[in-house]
Amino acid sequence: MIGRIHSFETFGTVDGPGIRFVVFLQGCNFRCIYCHNPDTWPLSAGSEFSAEETAAMAARYKLYFTASGGGITVSGGEPLLQAKFVTELFRLCRDEGIHTCLDTNGSACCSEELDELMKYTNLVLLDIKHTDPGIHKKITGAANDTVLSFAKYLNDIGKPFHIRSVIVPGLNDTPSYITALKNFCSQFSSLEKIELLPFHKIGEYKWKELGLPYSLGDVTPPSNEKMEELNGILNG
Ligand code: SF4
Repeated sequence: MIGRIHSFETFGTVDGPGIRFVVFLQGCNFRCIYCHNPDTWPLSAGSEFSAEETAAMAARYKLYFTASGGGITVSGGEPLLQAKFVTELFRLCRDEGIHTCLDTNGSACCSEELDELMKYTNLVLLDIKHTDPGIHKKITGAANDTVLSFAKYLNDIGKPFHIRSVIVPGLNDTPSYITALKNFCSQFSSLEKIELLPFHKIGEYKWKELGLPYSLGDVTPPSNEKMEELNGILNG
């Protein structure tokens, strides 16, 4: 089984618990206006690796995973565009006793392929860009009904998951959004954590290199005070 891979990160600490080997897959079906990896969008780019090669690379770091409670995370791009590859990779990793984590935009829900992948997935990081369909479309270019259904699907099958949401000033840095997100999440018993991530402009240069118009050039990342305020509402 061959996958198209954008890049690897060997000591990731922000995409799941502990120290993680992070695989960024090529291809995404969203066009988020703050994406810091727009070079992952074309499915045909990147380099080919087999699931066996990739699992063997991850296995080199098993000592670190064991010591830190870490493992492998597959991110993107959108990994579910290559669901069969991820399934095989996670199956091999689980055979090695490696914890597996999927970071997804939740745009591909409820299929036999997904059920099969979930058998080998320990944890899902589900990115929710917005609970409001109109604002979600403005951020991603796509509808959010499948994303919200994905959270319900994970809960229905009892899969541990985290929800992550990027906070962008002027788009979703409001108490009303955080309250809506909190209310939406309150129905889930297998949801372990909600994370608000501050928007940043680390990938802006990539948009320029690719000749893509970047619409957030004048937007300043949210202040620590703003993030504290929103986290206070979330956890209040
Ligand atoms: S889902 Fe992720 S990779 Fe895809 S466009 Fe959005 S931020 Fe970028």
